[in-house]
Amino acid sequence: MKNGVVIVGAGHAGVQAAASLREDGYDGPVILVGDEDELPYHKPPLSKTFIKDTEAKPQPLRGEAFYTGSAIDYRPGVKIDRIDAGRSSLDIAGGGALAFDHLILATGSRPRTLPLPGADLSGVLSLRSLADARLIRDLSAQSDEVVILGGGFIGLEIAATLRAAGRTVTVVEAVDRLLGRAVAPVVASHVRQRLEATGVRILAGTSIAKLDGENGHVVAAITSSGERLPARMVIVGIGAVPNVELAQAAGLGIANGIRVDHQMRTSVPEILAIGDAASYRHWFTGGEVRLESVQNATDQARLAARTISGHADAYSAVPWFWSDIGDMKLQMVGLTAGGDSHVVLGDLPDNKFSIYHYAGDRLLGIESVNRPGDHMLGRKMLGAGFSPTSETVAAGPEGLKAALAAFQNMEPAKASA
Ligand code: FAD
Ligand code: NAP
Repeated sequence: MKNGVVIVGAGHAGVQAAASLREDGYDGPVILVGDEDELPYHKPPLSKTFIKDTEAKPQPLRGEAFYTGSAIDYRPGVKIDRIDAGRSSLDIAGGGALAFDHLILATGSRPRTLPLPGADLSGVLSLRSLADARLIRDLSAQSDEVVILGGGFIGLEIAATLRAAGRTVTVVEAVDRLLGRAVAPVVASHVRQRLEATGVRILAGTSIAKLDGENGHVVAAITSSGERLPARMVIVGIGAVPNVELAQAAGLGIANGIRVDHQMRTSVPEILAIGDAASYRHWFTGGEVRLESVQNATDQARLAARTISGHADAYSAVPWFWSDIGDMKLQMVGLTAGGDSHVVLGDLPDNKFSIYHYAGDRLLGIESVNRPGDHMLGRKMLGAGFSPTSETVAAGPEGLKAALAAFQNMEPAKASA
């Protein structure tokens, strides 16, 4: 244990892995390397609040004292550019090397780029990091008109945030519905209606042919049907790609992410991968997934630390997600792809409802808008392996709670899992 654990990437996953190693009693060296020059910070507020508030401060994941107090050697502004798996060593960009007993790759993902004429103009931005958020915030102050490419979480959160700050916002989405990878059509169309009611213009089923500039700065996005959308700022939010290049060059298994087993080990057992960068066979669906969420990053980090400390747990966390878009708190639990029926609780016009998704008689997951109680109960039900009938769901939350309690009394082993 002389070289200890090196963690590459100081985002949600990397920081949690360092913390969990110490919480689990690991007493070897822990080195956390991150290529950003910041104290590691929460990403979710960047698109929801930070970019509209010139006074907003980044929210650190842990205070500075945490790193020194926990003997975590945090090295900001350091990029790793090669893994020598055979020698258990890393090359640091610009010179130097780091040896490890265990390596955790927590390299995250990066925004997908758009190969479009004009994409290299200034004012064409994407949002992943605090540095990106500062650029967007600064330029937003001088940009009345903003065009956002992509109707996913990031695009819609930014649209709502900048609209609330008084900007004229147009969202351009290539397919004919929003949030295609994230929620059911009924939720997506609800989100669309409410965003449009605030004045956000949404062009779905529309592509951008090019971006026009003047003096090197973007001035308009031109749709493929020729409409000119004036813009001092264009934000590209068309998905994320995993940062796998280090792992790939080292010969680790890759499949839409760094391939890991149920203990977060890559094809080289002393190298683990977690978070946005990792792909794995999901216990809940049996399918290969790569999830991009804070829950996935932090739960995998906790498990990776336990794997290194010698425990043999298998990953079994219930997946959940959230998004704040204007006056809608969206919360999703479970993985709902492959659902064939659903039950609705609550009222869409009230902006408070939940959709319970089923495949046959198995509850796959729940999407809630402004019904946090349903979401929390859903996490408990899926965590306990309890699948209520659609009739029990339709009877409302009190009946569901009672049915869960009865199930847990009958299945104490599952209930304590
Ligand atoms: P990251 O947090 O991206 O961290 C990876 C780090 O590794 C980065 O700092 C990167 O620069 C660094 N790195 C990469 N390569 C190297 C290298 N070679 N050397 C050194 N360092 C390296 N999820 C939710 O669940 N809810 C939300 O509301 C939500 N909102 C979001 C809002 C925004 C604006 C963004 C960008 C994301 C949001 N997410 C949200 C997604 C969530 O933030 C990610 O899923 C999470 O950050 C993944 O954690 P990670 O540690 O795997 O990756
Ligand atoms: P995303 O959820 O994959 O959404 C991207 C959207 O852009 C999709 O709707 C996609 O449609 C669309 N798109 C793809 N190519 C396009 C094109 N050429 N023109 C117009 N639209 C196009 O990813 P994201 O919203 O960009 O988010 C990036 C990352 O930030 C992800 O890791 C995400 O998880 C994270 N994030 C998460 C949250 C949250 O969880 N609340 C909030 C912000 C950011 P198709 O699906 O049809 O390709």
